Amino acid sequence: MLTDQDAWAGTLEARGGTCLMPTYARYPVELARGHGCRLVDSSGKEYLDFAAGIAVNALGHGHPALVRALRTAAGGLLHVSNLYWTEPMVRLAERLTAVAGMDRVFFCNSGAEAVETALKVARRARPGRPKIVVFDRSFHGRTLGALSATAQAQYREGFAPLLSGFETVPFGAFEATSSAVDESTAAVLVEPIQGEGGVRPTPSGWLEHLRSLCDRAGSLLVLDEVQCGVGRTGTFFAYQGEGIVPDAVATAKALASGLPMGALLTRGEAADALGPGQHGSTFGGGPLVASVAHAVLDVVLRDGFLDGVREKGAYLGKRLDAVVAQHPIALEARGRGLMWGIALDGPHAGDVVSVLHELGMLTVPAGKDVLRLLPPLVITRDEIDEGVALLDRALKVA
Ligand code: PLP
Repeated sequence: MLTDQDAWAGTLEARGGTCLMPTYARYPVELARGHGCRLVDSSGKEYLDFAAGIAVNALGHGHPALVRALRTAAGGLLHVSNLYWTEPMVRLAERLTAVAGMDRVFFCNSGAEAVETALKVARRARPGRPKIVVFDRSFHGRTLGALSATAQAQYREGFAPLLSGFETVPFGAFEATSSAVDESTAAVLVEPIQGEGGVRPTPSGWLEHLRSLCDRAGSLLVLDEVQCGVGRTGTFFAYQGEGIVPDAVATAKALASGLPMGALLTRGEAADALGPGQHGSTFGGGPLVASVAHAVLDVVLRDGFLDGVREKGAYLGKRLDAVVAQHPIALEARGRGLMWGIALDGPHAGDVVSVLHELGMLTVPAGKDVLRLLPPLVITRDEIDEGVALLDRALKVA
């Protein structure tokens, strides 16, 4: 019997090439289904998933808690307007503010929207201050505001005029940031670990330095944890491992572990910056997506889960160091928790990703010279060993 999959297998690239905007250089891989940390393509070939939808599928694929939450929520309200109260949204705001040490949440549908919200908060909370300090190789999203904050030419090219007021400072630089943050600065916007920019963790003590500069100048410290948040680095938010509290934090990706959800968490004046009518989102915080986010929090905040991420992350890091030492093409493994990058000695990331496809493993590049590993947080040690062995083979041939 012919299945639906048999009917379309092998056709998607040719069909999609004529009717989808070519905004992605998609790989020749047609994904059909998945379970746990495995994905299966239309030919039945299995892949070990070290991409997790670029840090989205924290619980892997088909996790029973997610399936249960979706089934239950599907029989309830899917959507009502944000002009009304719904319980899953309010309880989610209560849980997130409690875990993050924040006061209020704005719910939206993506990382870029969470960043846009932060920019609007900064404008309202610090009127008359035109400057927002951002960092080289940052990535904050593709909408025009978020793009204005993104200091990478390849994403910005052809979209001028962008918003003015953004000043770019070298990432991790102590002195340069000290001179940039002043009384004209509304906010400093930073990723605690840069993702798209090459998996670059902040140097020790630098976030604390930013916190004190912002306190001195009266600027907001806004963290973009869209990629590194929701447990990825071994604490719920990465800043919780750094001993600081920001004024606002943007989150998305893993928050509903596969359904579109973003949020900006805020405290103090940032929490009260936007009033009725000053911002909104038709779908933000809807009952279905909020119910799924509860299931994600149930798992990620369960006793021992984040300890497990830290332990598995330390193990992965050690294994990667050993692999890097074996291959001249690999310069360094860097990261935290289950967010790792392997710096390569040239623009080989695409080649390594393709060789890994052949070997049955999904990873993502971060720029041309960094290979990024973002497995689901539920990955096992055996799966880590399997992934490291495949990577070792790929680096031999790439
Ligand atoms: N901020 C960071 C740090 C990201 O990594 C991303 C996406 O990769 C975004 C913002 C944009 O998120 P989205 O694609 O959901 O708009």
